[in-house]
Amino acid sequence: MSLKEYKKKRDFSKTQEPPESKKKSDELIYVIQRHKASHLHYDLRLEEEGVLKSWAIPKSPPEEVGIRRLAVQTEDHPLGYEDFEGIIPEGEYGAGKVETWDRGDYLPLEADPAKRVIEIKGKKLKGKHALIKLKPKNPDDKNWLFFKLKNDK
Ligand code: MN
Repeated sequence: MSLKEYKKKRDFSKTQEPPESKKKSDELIYVIQRHKASHLHYDLRLEEEGVLKSWAIPKSPPEEVGIRRLAVQTEDHPLGYEDFEGIIPEGEYGAGKVETWDRGDYLPLEADPAKRVIEIKGKKLKGKHALIKLKPKNPDDKNWLFFKLKNDK
């Protein structure tokens, strides 16, 4: 868990994004940010071990069972980033508008390096969801699938 890559990509004298992690509540943070960068995407972030694990979803997040979305893992972000909304300036990494799309907390049900099963308690996404890592075709592949699971009740 390191914020090295996150810090390397950003000039904090130019962007309003937070440089450091700040933990505020006991619940595990869940957030999805709508990010209108060169390509509109949605950034899913889940608190794990003091950072926000992050995935970029190129299409709208899966609000119903049956929708499977590609989620490309990106660099860990600091706690506190869930509060960031604003414009990343032109010329900076991820330039464009960031706004909260959904927010809440989550319960980890299963966690392994290539799989997460989580109970999301957001306003838009609710219930059990899975993140499954796809078999990499090369070492740089960080493709996962993100989808809602049927509730067993
Ligand atoms: Mn993004």
